[in-house]
Amino acid sequence: MITSAPNVIVVGAGVAGMTAAIYGARAGLNVLVLEKASCGGLANSSSNVENFPSYQGIRGTELTERIRTQVESLDVAIEELTEVVDLDLASPRKVVHTDAGRFAAPALIVATGASPVRLPIQSDCDDRIHYCALCDGPPYAGREVVVVGGGNTGFDESLHLVNLGVESVVIVECMKVCAADQVLQRRARATGRIFVRTASMVRAIVQDGSRVRVTIEDLAGAFSEDVPADGVFVFIGQKPNTAILKGKVALDHAGYIVADALMHTDCPGVFAAGDVVAKKYRQLTTAMADGTVAALEAARHVREPVEGGRGLPANGKESAGRSSAACTADGRRP
Ligand SMILES: Cc1cc2nc3c(=O)[nH]c(=O)nc-3n(C[C@H](O)[C@H](O)[C@H](O)COP(=O)(O)OP(=O)(O)OC[C@H]3O[C@@H](n4cnc5c(N)ncnc54)[C@H](O)[C@@H]3O)c2cc1C
Repeated sequence: MITSAPNVIVVGAGVAGMTAAIYGARAGLNVLVLEKASCGGLANSSSNVENFPSYQGIRGTELTERIRTQVESLDVAIEELTEVVDLDLASPRKVVHTDAGRFAAPALIVATGASPVRLPIQSDCDDRIHYCALCDGPPYAGREVVVVGGGNTGFDESLHLVNLGVESVVIVECMKVCAADQVLQRRARATGRIFVRTASMVRAIVQDGSRVRVTIEDLAGAFSEDVPADGVFVFIGQKPNTAILKGKVALDHAGYIVADALMHTDCPGVFAAGDVVAKKYRQLTTAMADGTVAALEAARHVREPVEGGRGLPANGKESAGRSSAACTADGRRP
């Protein structure tokens, strides 16, 4: 049973999805937002956001509550605790299957985000364990941190921490060699402030006065050491929430949605926004920018399905001969 007749369905009510809802509603669309948990997404876990223009510092939950109030003022329908479990993208009307029924619309905006892989240990000082150096690094200037993960992200973020003035960084990598590019590893060594421990695992992080004690064990479990630090940054991977899209829109090797500069996926009528998109920087402002563009393009698609639904390569120029209805059975363009 189709339970609603919106013009556009937004999947995910993080900042990308809620921004898309604001722009969609203001463009005159009937917008339905489906959210499997509660509005706000990842931003709700930021204790203090210090890089959001217009606020020098704001709790993540306060920011998302403000956005939600704005969305609600525009008569957007928000269905929380409603998980999208499958998509049928083959026809021009995109059908969304949820645990609470089916919905359909001519345009779909996927804003399901990505989840950082958490450190698999219990700790009594979660407030000192971070997953974003750009966001949470500044208070650690002049202090010592441990970084978990010796891939490109771990090294990149360690260099960022040093640039912020962090005194020393110990990178802990479980493999015998770090997977990060040699150029990054050389750059890290050259700082004289980044040290690497391979074949090692972080086993425990406990509060120790005003600092934390990080227990690092070698892989064989034969040797263990307690390293004092002020905080821990974890970069052991991020998982895009794209299980429902596999085989339906183009994903990159890591599972992120491939979208062009106007947030079109390779399935006409399906747009993507926020952290779920394959890109370099994942921040509140970039997620909101994506949501803005996706909603405006979705509005164009709803009004002019043939022109608006044409494939737009990254340079933004329309390519001839692609129709919005031209999805294959799995939703992709032939
Ligand atoms: C610890 C931490 C701190 C951060 N601090 C900052 C900061 O200070 N400044 C900054 O700019 N950025 C910060 N970031 C990054 C920022 O939070 C993200 O870039 C941004 O919130 C991403 O928004 P989004 O809407 O794309 O995704 P999300 O916020 O992840 O939202 C996706 C939403 O989709 C929902 N969803 C997923 N799958 C489904 C489904 N199948 N059906 C229905 N709903 C679904 C999820 O429940 C979620 O609510 C931080 C990130 C982390 C991890």
